[in-house]
Amino acid sequence: MKKHNFYAGPSILPQFTLDETIKAIENFAGTGLSLMEISHRSKEFVAVMDEAVALFKELLSIPEGYSVIFLGGGASLQFAMVPFNLMRSKAAYLNTGEWASKALKEARFFGEVVEVASSKDKMFSYIPKGWTVPEDADYFHITTNNTIYGTEIRQDFDCKVPLVADMSSDIFSRPIDVSKYALIYGGAQKNLAPAGVTFVIIRNDILGKVERPIPTMLKYQTHIDKESMFNTPPCVPVFAALQTLKWLKSKGGVAEMEKINIKKAALLYDEIDRNPLFKGTVATEDRSLMNICFVMEEKYIQFEKEFLDLAAARGLVGLKGHRSVGGFRASTYNALPIESVQALVDAMKEFENMKA
Ligand SMILES: *Cc1c(COP(=O)(O)O)cnc(C)c1O
Repeated sequence: MKKHNFYAGPSILPQFTLDETIKAIENFAGTGLSLMEISHRSKEFVAVMDEAVALFKELLSIPEGYSVIFLGGGASLQFAMVPFNLMRSKAAYLNTGEWASKALKEARFFGEVVEVASSKDKMFSYIPKGWTVPEDADYFHITTNNTIYGTEIRQDFDCKVPLVADMSSDIFSRPIDVSKYALIYGGAQKNLAPAGVTFVIIRNDILGKVERPIPTMLKYQTHIDKESMFNTPPCVPVFAALQTLKWLKSKGGVAEMEKINIKKAALLYDEIDRNPLFKGTVATEDRSLMNICFVMEEKYIQFEKEFLDLAAARGLVGLKGHRSVGGFRASTYNALPIESVQALVDAMKEFENMKA
């Protein structure tokens, strides 16, 4: 049976990415060797790294003066690397979810952290509005998409201090104005590649301003200078990321992706709002296009498991909400086709006919 993959991460990848990666694992670039057993310094792999960086810059229209690097350690290591490299004494954070909270917690190891606003009072179900960033902060950190609770900041905005964004779960889902950001990072396992590689986009002029010594591997400049080859990069995930970027380009790039993502999300949110069995969990204006969270109405709450079973029988997998939220979460990343969203909507209607 065809599976409809709604997992939040690691998550669905384009079939093209899987096919090309499988081929390269068998015989990489006609070398007669597997992608897994060839030197990262071979000309074939260096070409992969170079092309991945070039396509990354092209698809996001990254201006001059920025570097793109690929690292290990996940987005979680960036929670520490960002303050290690950028914080002199003080940084500001917007607390919009569990990942944002974790980033903020790590920053406290390096100096004073100002939480400019938080939506923790209502289980991170909205994006706080009307906050101000202290002008003496070394940077301001936001998490554009709240993967766990399903809210999203979809507008780039101007910021007087360098703006840093965790875009783990919505990178490449829409066009972004990179010039408004000083640094953007994310784990690749949500919208780009298998787990194991982390991307970082850095405006070069923000580096070199802190006094503290930084260990070599944790210093952005090391990886910029060595073009992500200071040590062995995660070769297979980088190769897979390149395939996803090629697929993205063939589909018309991020502007086209955004149109499809808006359609997919509207299809599901409309059904959540219409169907008397279900309800959304976050403020309507802050709804994420990538992670759509919903629960059963009070009256039907005992049927949660039964709905998941029905969904599973229809090939719909990965719909169980995060353990801290419960209910359901449908992740609708770039690679998820609209047919899969339609299959979920059909299952919700079928369940309504059984129960309502
Ligand atoms: C998944 C996720 C992370 C954690 O990523 P790791 O690569 O597992 O460290 C951080 N931030 C956001 C927004 C995420 O979705």
